[in-house]
Amino acid sequence: MKKAAFYTLGCKVNQVDTEQIKEAFLKQGYQVVDFNEAADIYVINTCTVTHVSDRKSRAVIRRAARRNPLAQIVVTGCLAQADPDQIKAIPGVSMVVDNQDKERIPDLVGGTVRGDADGVFASLTPVLFTGRHERTRAFIKIEDGCHSYCSYCIVPYTRGAVRSKRPEHVQAELQRLVELGYREIVLTGIHTGLYGYDLKNINLTELLKQLLGEVDGDYRIRLSSIEPLEICPALLQLVQQEPRICRHFHVPLQSGSDTVLKAMNRRYNGQYYRDLILEISKRIPGVGLSADVMVGFPGESRQDFQATYDLLAELPLLDLHVFKYSRREGTPAALMKGQIDEGVKQERSQALLQLARDKHFQRLENSCGQMLRVLVEQRIQAQTYTGLSDNYIEVRWDSSRDLRGEFAKVRIIGQEQGVAMGCVDDIPVH
Ligand code: SF4
Repeated sequence: MKKAAFYTLGCKVNQVDTEQIKEAFLKQGYQVVDFNEAADIYVINTCTVTHVSDRKSRAVIRRAARRNPLAQIVVTGCLAQADPDQIKAIPGVSMVVDNQDKERIPDLVGGTVRGDADGVFASLTPVLFTGRHERTRAFIKIEDGCHSYCSYCIVPYTRGAVRSKRPEHVQAELQRLVELGYREIVLTGIHTGLYGYDLKNINLTELLKQLLGEVDGDYRIRLSSIEPLEICPALLQLVQQEPRICRHFHVPLQSGSDTVLKAMNRRYNGQYYRDLILEISKRIPGVGLSADVMVGFPGESRQDFQATYDLLAELPLLDLHVFKYSRREGTPAALMKGQIDEGVKQERSQALLQLARDKHFQRLENSCGQMLRVLVEQRIQAQTYTGLSDNYIEVRWDSSRDLRGEFAKVRIIGQEQGVAMGCVDDIPVH
């Protein structure tokens, strides 16, 4: 039996893509092994969102080549798409596969499809898993691509325009995952809020209604990142009413300065973002809110940065993902004047990371005494477990019962180093 190993860099969508490629290999009779083992085929799904992702992607490819110099090394993903020549030049690489051809890698490797065949293969075909790939949480890629062209972002060039998975295919995947026993299913995409843009009579809210109406079972749905302009009143109302949708919104801000937002080609301003976040927290009690923020965009002055800091400080956010702007060739921002010194980016990033820690601490303090429905995920010691609540709080507790993969009711009683401490009555929750 041939062995295949996989490595994923970057976003959740890439991770879902890898699971899908893995499933295709399993169906063709391959044995999937750990990336650190000797394999016949290594598939590396790369990312190019920053310089660091580029560097890591290249390092992983070299690592595979060292592990088994006779192995076939197949490289796909956004770095492979953006700069295939650079990847082909790495010793040991046998094949570079476009993002839209990712899912037929097993056929390309097996020689049943020619590598230069037309891209008739839709990258949003449904994937019905034969078994569980991950322990507790599963992902469905409902959409790929983006046409927003934020001026710093390479993704629209590497992923192409918005393509949505047909609702009946999403439903079939959800049904299968629930049957396999997954309790939490994350709907993800490159620009998830644009789901349905290329289809008729469907959008994200309608998709959710259809899924919840058609698929029974003890599960919950989590939404991945949604852009501020795509959180509409109908979506908020649904989340408010429907306990099977997690009370969690990850809403990218990027900057609190209107000047910088405009230069980024983001189509909202700070006031819009502030009002939206306050509205969500008013309408959905206990909601977990998190945000992406970028520092060091070209031309970002001290005042611009301060506007970002002040806005974030004011808002009820649980978590911040802080990114330093990374110049990507081929994007408008790469040509902008006023590129910011790395030291300044570092300083601003540190300031926001500290703010993020403070906000997280405060949010956990405020959660003390609350009873949360937690998906039990890992056993970290003999009788100590961790899990994630629907409103995005990581909780740790002691218990004599191993409920991994099930829901438990956990009361928050304190916090330690950014993790909520809980106690549980040991009865699975249904
Ligand atoms: S919305 Fe902007 S940041 Fe997100 S993928 Fe599209 S272009 Fe990139």
